[in-house]
Amino acid sequence: MQSENNMAIEDNLDPHDWESMRELGHAMLDDMLDYLQGIRQQPAWQPIPPEAKAHFTSPVPWEAQDPGAIYQEFKRFVMPYPLGNTHPRFWGWLFGTGTVMGMYAEMLAAGMNTNGGDLDNHSAIHVETQVVNWLKEILGFPASASGLLTNGCSASNLNGLAVARFARAPWDLRQEGLQGDHPRLVLYASTEAHSSIRKAVELLGLGSEALRSIEVDAQYRIDLAALEAAIQHDRKDGLQPFCVVGSAGTVNTGAFDDLNALADLCKSQDLWLHVDGAFGAWAVLAPSLSHLASGLERADSLAFDLHKWMYMPYELGCVLVRDEGQHRHAFSYTPPYLAGSHSGRGLTGGDLPWFTDKTYELSRGFRALKAWMSLKEHGLSKYARLIEQNVQQAQYLAELIEADPGLELMAPAPLNVVCFRSVQPGLDEPALELLNQKILLALQEQGIAVLSSTRLAGRFALRVGNTNHRTRRADFDLLVREVKRLGDRLLRDLSD
Ligand SMILES: *Cc1c(COP(=O)(O)O)cnc(C)c1O
Repeated sequence: MQSENNMAIEDNLDPHDWESMRELGHAMLDDMLDYLQGIRQQPAWQPIPPEAKAHFTSPVPWEAQDPGAIYQEFKRFVMPYPLGNTHPRFWGWLFGTGTVMGMYAEMLAAGMNTNGGDLDNHSAIHVETQVVNWLKEILGFPASASGLLTNGCSASNLNGLAVARFARAPWDLRQEGLQGDHPRLVLYASTEAHSSIRKAVELLGLGSEALRSIEVDAQYRIDLAALEAAIQHDRKDGLQPFCVVGSAGTVNTGAFDDLNALADLCKSQDLWLHVDGAFGAWAVLAPSLSHLASGLERADSLAFDLHKWMYMPYELGCVLVRDEGQHRHAFSYTPPYLAGSHSGRGLTGGDLPWFTDKTYELSRGFRALKAWMSLKEHGLSKYARLIEQNVQQAQYLAELIEADPGLELMAPAPLNVVCFRSVQPGLDEPALELLNQKILLALQEQGIAVLSSTRLAGRFALRVGNTNHRTRRADFDLLVREVKRLGDRLLRDLSD
């Protein structure tokens, strides 16, 4: 009697009715598989109607609600209005498209609910270590290099630049910080470098002025002469250059800096080379593209994503650091309550390095499982073919654009990023910009395709970034047709 009373008082969060929860889970899985299987029939995007938005202003739920009812709410208000990036005609920014097996891995990892930060005598640490080892091998890093999975390339850039800063400051920066009487640390990247580089520099306390923006050539690659001159100039001024950031695939046009030249320069100038290869690093997989990424393997640190061009579900990035000691030196700090034994016994006695020694995070999810399962499911050769396919599709689009007098290719497209616009005789620059902005919106709002935009040499451009494994060439035929149709129609509206 006593114990029954206790059972009533001591509640928990497991299902009260496992059987109906099991049914609900199966229904969710079936619905999601139906959705992904039929994704091509869905609009590429649709706006959230005001009624649906209003749904998200309901009060804090103090009382329990039925799981089935919550799922119905999801189906009505959440599911129908996704970002759209699983759709075959989503090419805005650089988005990942995800896979079914990746989704399963997410579910399994969530079920295990393990913590991949510290404590090394459990399977997740071995899975992540193996994934990082595979990635080192694929990207040409030595087996002795260090690395960890992150939530994305922004975090990877921050991690890599933090290591660079600690490794290259000629004083004990972990202890003294930037507050002492020291020369100012400065670093270099092209004007085309990703915004996450500047954010990282600001977060690291260096100040965005410390990030020297170096101009690019006609191919949007960093201008090496200008870079050298800037380094010399800063040294003369008594500043402390410590790092160059190379881009392997810029977000605007997919350009690659000359990474071998940067590696040579960094060697002769005693600077750290960090490479941001968010999506472009994966060019190494495709025989016809790998020359672009040559030199990548010489970086001191390399940041890249697996949720963009390796098509794995969000969130998943990686940072590799050539020198494991320097990686640890930047982050390792072990208070007594976290100490491990490396005795081979017990949960803290494993033989692997702790990932928490390589990042500021302590608790970390089991991101590695989706990478491990995905790489096995498809095999690297399949990824190589798909990456090649995406680039060939982008080249195909560029050819369609160049063959059409009503369209203008606005930058070289060496990889999977294509910038273009609709041109109409007699329109000046402001009118062209307005027209193309309207085309961009119409494509999105009519659910035809999602593109993003950028500005190249001050001119507005429609931008396609193709990291989509569901795209077919015919989707680009359709895109060109629709851009032209919308262009003609909107031109009539503009002149009315
Ligand atoms: C997307 C991107 C990033 C940032 O990566 P996240 O995974 O979005 O954090 C950094 N650099 C480049 C070149 C990118 O394309």
